[in-house]
Amino acid sequence: MNVCIVGTGYVGLVTAACLAETGNHVFCVDINDGIIQRLKTGDVHIFEPGLEELVQRNLAEERLVFTTSLKDAMASATLIFSCVGTPSMEDGSCDLSAVYRVAGQVGDNMEDHKIVVNKSTVPVGTAARVREIISERLAARGVSLDFDVVSNPEFLKEGDAVSDFMKPDRIIIGTDNPEVAQLMENLYEPYARSRDKLILMSPKSAEMTKYAANCMLAAKISFINEIANICEKVGADVRDVRAGIGSDHRIGYHFIYPGVGYGGSCFPKDVRALIHTAADLGYVPEVLSAVDNVNNRQRQMVARKVQSFFESAGGVSGRVLAVWGLSFKANTDDIRHSPAIDIVNELSRAGMQIRAFDPGAGQNAKQMFAGNDNVSVGDKQYEILDGAHALAVLTDWHQFRTPDFPGIEKRLKQPVIFDARNLYSTDLIVRHNFTCIRTGRPDII
Ligand code: NAD
Repeated sequence: MNVCIVGTGYVGLVTAACLAETGNHVFCVDINDGIIQRLKTGDVHIFEPGLEELVQRNLAEERLVFTTSLKDAMASATLIFSCVGTPSMEDGSCDLSAVYRVAGQVGDNMEDHKIVVNKSTVPVGTAARVREIISERLAARGVSLDFDVVSNPEFLKEGDAVSDFMKPDRIIIGTDNPEVAQLMENLYEPYARSRDKLILMSPKSAEMTKYAANCMLAAKISFINEIANICEKVGADVRDVRAGIGSDHRIGYHFIYPGVGYGGSCFPKDVRALIHTAADLGYVPEVLSAVDNVNNRQRQMVARKVQSFFESAGGVSGRVLAVWGLSFKANTDDIRHSPAIDIVNELSRAGMQIRAFDPGAGQNAKQMFAGNDNVSVGDKQYEILDGAHALAVLTDWHQFRTPDFPGIEKRLKQPVIFDARNLYSTDLIVRHNFTCIRTGRPDII
C-alpha cells in the first residue's frame, strides 16, 4: 500500500519505518526541514532502539521517502496518517492546532479518495472536526470528493517503540465504514498475527480508549506512589508490599513501581486533557484529579528528601549533587516533562550545584540547561561524581542498576545515595557501607 505519514516524531517515524519494513511504500512529511534533511541521509534525530537500522534499510530499498511537501507525500497515498504533536495548553486542554492545520492542508491538496487516519492522541470528537475541516477546504476549492476519517490511536511506548509497533497488544480501529475497516485490517494484518488483536469500534470510542488506557496506567503509578509514601510513614517496605499485592491476578505486578512519578510527553498531558474534557461537560473527575495531584507532589518529594538530609549540616546551598538519569524513563532521549528535570531545577534553585549524566538524553539536557550556571551535564557516568556530596539516581537505566560501589565511594565526598527508583538491594547498600535514602522503603543510615 502507499501510505503518507505526517509528522516524523516518535510516533510518525516509528510508524513509517515499521510500515515500510513489511513492504508498504511510505512517504513521510514534516515541517521541520532540518529533521527531513537528516532523515534523507539515514540520520535519525531521535533515539529509539532499532529505529535507525529500520530507517536506513528501508531508505536504501526505496520504500521510505522523506519530504517537506505534504502535496507530494500524499499524492499517491491511499492512507494519510496524522502523527503530529498534541501538547497541553495552559488550562490542561489539548492543543489541536497542528492536527487541524494538517486537516486543512489535506483538504487543500486532495485530488482523489483518501483515508485520513488520526494517530495522534486527540479528544473525543476530533475525528468529526477533522472531517468538517477537510469538507470546508474542499468546498472552498469547489471540489466534491469522497474521503474517510479514521481514529487509530497509537499505544507504543518510547524506549520500546519499534517492538511495540511490530508486536502490539492490540490495534484499535475507529471507523463506521466497513470497507475502510477492512483496508485497515489488511494493513495491520502482518503485525496483528491474531485477529483478536484488531479491535473495531466507533471513532469516538477509539479516541476515548486511548485516554482511558493512559489514565489507567497513570493511576497505577500514582496509586503505588501514594502507598509508598504511606509505607514511609508507617515503617513498611513498599517492595514487599508490591510483591504481596501483585501476586493477586486482579492487580498484577506491572506498572506498580514507586519512584519519582510519571512524566514524558503523554501521561501528564493526557490525564489533564481528560480532566478538562470531563469538566467541560459538567462532570467532576475526582480520581483523575487525584492521579494528577499525587504525581505533581511525587516529583517534589525527592528534592525535599535531599534538602532535609542536608538540613542539619547547613542546607543544600553550595553543595554538589551528582545525578544519574534525566530522561523521563530508561531507554529514551526524551526529557519532555521529565520528573528528573523538575527535581534538578528545584534543587538548583535552592542553590545546589548539579552535575548530571544520562546515557541517552545528555545532548537534549545540555541544550535545556545551557545558561544555568548551577547545572552541568557530563559525558562520563563516573567522572561527574568527583567531589560531589551525594548521588541521586533518578532514571532506571540498566547501566545504573549494578554500579561499581567502591568506585562511587572513592569519588564522592561521602557515601550517600538517593535511590529514588529503588534500584539497589538493601544487601548491596549495607555491604558497601552506603547511606541510602529510598522511596517507600526504610532508609539505610
Ligand atoms: P513529536 O513531537 O515527537 O513529533 C511530532 C512531529 O510532527 C514533529 O516532528 C513536528 O515537526 C511535526 N509536525 C508538526 N506539525 C506538522 C505539520 N503541520 N506537518 C508536518 N509535520 C508536522 O510527537 P510524538 O511524541 O510522536 O507524538 C505525536 C502524537 O502521538 C501525540 O498526539 C502524542 O500524544 C501521541 N503519542 C505519543 C506517544 C509517544 O510515546 N511519544 C505514544 C503514543 C501516542
